[in-house]
Amino acid sequence: MMERLLSDKQRIELVKDNCKRISEEVAEAAIKSGRKPEDVRLMAVTKTVEPVFINAAFECGINLMGENRVQEFLGKRDELNLDGVEKHLIGHLQKNKVRSIVGEVDMIESVDSVSLAQEISKRSAAKGIVTDVLLEVNVGNEESKFGFSFEEVEQAMYEISELEAVRVRGLMSIPPICDDIALTRKNFAKMYKLYVDISSKIFNNINILSMGMSGDYVEAILEGANLVRVGSKMFGNRIYR
Ligand SMILES: *Cc1c(COP(=O)(O)O)cnc(C)c1O
Repeated sequence: MMERLLSDKQRIELVKDNCKRISEEVAEAAIKSGRKPEDVRLMAVTKTVEPVFINAAFECGINLMGENRVQEFLGKRDELNLDGVEKHLIGHLQKNKVRSIVGEVDMIESVDSVSLAQEISKRSAAKGIVTDVLLEVNVGNEESKFGFSFEEVEQAMYEISELEAVRVRGLMSIPPICDDIALTRKNFAKMYKLYVDISSKIFNNINILSMGMSGDYVEAILEGANLVRVGSKMFGNRIYR
């Protein structure tokens, strides 16, 4: 709605205001949860957003971006000012796209099967690199969502940790959307417990818990997230073409 009424220039200003405000909220929530502001990272989720607005977020100090689709990322990255910006893939990844994305992003957050991890490892090894990944957890056991079930995660973690060219860095989750914030917090807390549990086992590289989006990033941080992924609250509602 709003986007249609604004000029590009106005929208750039709006994105910058949003970034500033959200960064402040993230810092406040970090402190409230007993951590330092720099312990929690804010990601700009850039699907459907044009480069000019994404660059506005970078100008504002956002140094982490997440894209859902390989093609969309590769298509617009030449127009992005990516100096000092870390790039993550956060959408479901098909095996036949692995080859084109490995080495182009710093992390793949959406590893949702052991066979996908095997493919990432194989393609990374072929390029002589190791790819950082997160395991996606379907904490609400929703039919419509990708990810390991809560029960499967640990076993998958053992199997994936054996692979030569991936390094598991933590967990990512998209809890069910619900109006009841208490329920949302319960899912975040459940994820945090799993994260602590898993990182206390033999997995010593694990230090990322990616959860919380536009509607609930403050609650996610209060429950222990250290990476929140924010799209529409930063850039305005998405227009899918
Ligand atoms: C789109 C998306 C987000 C951001 O969603 P908003 O509600 O717009 O903040 C976060 N994570 C993933 C995996 C997404 O696909």
